Amino acid sequence: MRYFTFFFILFSTLLFSQKNNKTEKTDSVAYYSNLASSNISQNKYKNALTYTQKAIDYSKTINKPEDEAGQTFRLGKLYYDVKKYDDAINAFHKSISLFDKSASTNIQAYTFYILGLCYMEKEDFLNAKNCFDKSQSLYDTLKITNTADLLNLQKGIIYKSQGNFELANTIFNSIISKPDDPILGDTKAGALYQIGLIEMAQNRNNLALNYLNKALSLNAKGTDVELKSEILLALSNVYEKMLDKNNAYSYLKLHTNLKESIDLLDNEKLGIDDYENFKETERLKQEAKINKENLQKEKASKFSKLISILAIALISILSLLSLSLYKNNIIRTRSNQLLEEKNRELILAKEKAEKASNARTEFLSTVSHELRTPLNAINGIAHLLLEESPKKSQMHYLESLQFSGNYLTNFINDILEINKIDSKKSEIENINFDLKLLLENIQNSLKELASENNNNFNLNIDSNIPDFLIGDPTKLSQILMNLINNALKFTHQGEVTVTSKLISIADNQASIYFEVKDSGIGIPEDKLETVFDSFSQGSVGINRKYGGTGLGLTIVKKLVAILGGEIKLESTVKEGSTFSFELPFEEGEKPMNIEEILNKEDITTLINKKILVVEDNKINQMISRKMLENRGVYCEIVDNGEDAIELVRNNKYDMVLMDVHLPGINGTIATKKIREFDSLTPVVALTAISLNENRTMLLSYGMNDVITKPFVPEDFYIIISKYI
Ligand code: ADP
Repeated sequence: MRYFTFFFILFSTLLFSQKNNKTEKTDSVAYYSNLASSNISQNKYKNALTYTQKAIDYSKTINKPEDEAGQTFRLGKLYYDVKKYDDAINAFHKSISLFDKSASTNIQAYTFYILGLCYMEKEDFLNAKNCFDKSQSLYDTLKITNTADLLNLQKGIIYKSQGNFELANTIFNSIISKPDDPILGDTKAGALYQIGLIEMAQNRNNLALNYLNKALSLNAKGTDVELKSEILLALSNVYEKMLDKNNAYSYLKLHTNLKESIDLLDNEKLGIDDYENFKETERLKQEAKINKENLQKEKASKFSKLISILAIALISILSLLSLSLYKNNIIRTRSNQLLEEKNRELILAKEKAEKASNARTEFLSTVSHELRTPLNAINGIAHLLLEESPKKSQMHYLESLQFSGNYLTNFINDILEINKIDSKKSEIENINFDLKLLLENIQNSLKELASENNNNFNLNIDSNIPDFLIGDPTKLSQILMNLINNALKFTHQGEVTVTSKLISIADNQASIYFEVKDSGIGIPEDKLETVFDSFSQGSVGINRKYGGTGLGLTIVKKLVAILGGEIKLESTVKEGSTFSFELPFEEGEKPMNIEEILNKEDITTLINKKILVVEDNKINQMISRKMLENRGVYCEIVDNGEDAIELVRNNKYDMVLMDVHLPGINGTIATKKIREFDSLTPVVALTAISLNENRTMLLSYGMNDVITKPFVPEDFYIIISKYI
């Protein structure tokens, strides 16, 4: 059933004919739209469909939903024209969904109307009514009233189809009662046709004929050929009912002819295969599009999968890294804790070792100090007895006593020396000295020992060595004395040569090489290393034969090291030994007055001199007094520092011999106090020197010199004569 009215033709024309602009682009919605329109007017629906589809595709590409909505509506309309109602319904729905919902337009209203017609064709009256209602309300909003009859006609048809002839008739009658208007012609004809059908259904054939004929005559003025064909068929049916076979036949023939021509026209619009081809092309296009989209989706999903895999891998690597860092940290913390524990243990062990070493040092210091006082008595008394012309038989005993005393004194001195070096209390002097003189003095002092063993004792001094050097002559003497002493001791009828050579001199810094070479018994190869250890001697036999304490080389090695050198030893048994070392010195200057070193006792200087001896030990008092009186000295004794100060204040003495360890104030403080009022009287310390005392410290209190107990009587007299 088709009811085209003027209004809708005009409306659709408006939609299809886009402005024919000459500058129109070949690729634009308007361009395709115009091509579609011209093909419709030429009845070429296949092309119209193709161009409309292109217009839709293009509007999608340029993202213009309004254009897409319009073109989709037109596609729906084309489907409707070629009676493809299902496709038309789809297109209209799409078009409606694309229209701007907020705006009410003619096209929207018209779309609902045509959609309603599609549903009518499919006899889906419910949906059809909904569409007509929506169309009506949109027209109402747009205040367009002349479409109401058209919509009412459709509603009437719906009522009729539901058997509600009465309501249907009311609607149809209201349409036909409208005044004549060419625009309403087809609608009125449609209403008359519908009333005719109702009358026919109610067997009121004459009335039916009446309405149908009116419809036919009104239709003749309009354009709706399909309605005409249906009116003709209805008339044929009524005549058939009235048994008027002739009329029935002739109207049927008219109907058939018209129908054929309509079908022919429809076929012209679109060939039988054209529509299928168009749909197939669209289907293929859609399929290709979906495929493309799928491919893109697949690509995207592959890409996102790859990204996910990478992210997972990255997260795993990071997790592993963090885990290993965490484990490392734990291990490090544990090892740190272990190390800290070990450190604490080591610190404790070190402290313990230090305490033990300090205790040993203190012990040795105390023991050696305590031994010195009685030793002083032994040595002193032995000396005094020997001086008092003993009997010949007593002479041997006294000499043995003196030897033992001297041995013990040396031993204690060695122990104290090592103790001092080990406890780092040994101070290095830096004073100007004459190396040549030092070596010659050593040679002189050891002459006797050399001749005892029939040795040649040679001295080779490099003439390039500066006359004066700055260094520690005391320690150097100790080193050389020990080495030469050993060389002379372990050599018989051989050669002992002491060499000193200048190795280098630059910027006041001289490096001097010392060598003590002998042609004595030599040292076995396996003992070369150990001879420097404390108490290490070549063998028990050697000890018995040559004596010695086994401490000399230990002291030598330690002293050379603290002076900045290293002792070296080469030796072959029965051929001899060579001890050598190299030491740094600063180049010294010739002093203005070279103090003559008094090495010989001048007996006469001491006669009638007045000396105050400050000493608390009774035996030592006696020894000192006796030794001094033996040289003609007038001796006064006092046993404490306080009295000594007063005596010095009130008397004139040529010298004060001051013991350091005294009851009450000690010797150093007493000297300091004396120096407050008397700076001239020589004060010489008499001390059993301990670890914490040294020459420099004692001199700093104002003492002139130091005699260490047990004293060697010769040294005792030499030092005293030096200051009187
Ligand atoms: P000692 O008081 O026994 O001489 P030292 O430490 O001075 O102690 O010497 C250790 C040992 O080294 C000696 O007992 C001796 O066996 C060996 N020795 C040292 N110097 C010589 C030397 N010039 N010739 C041979 N043996 C030596």
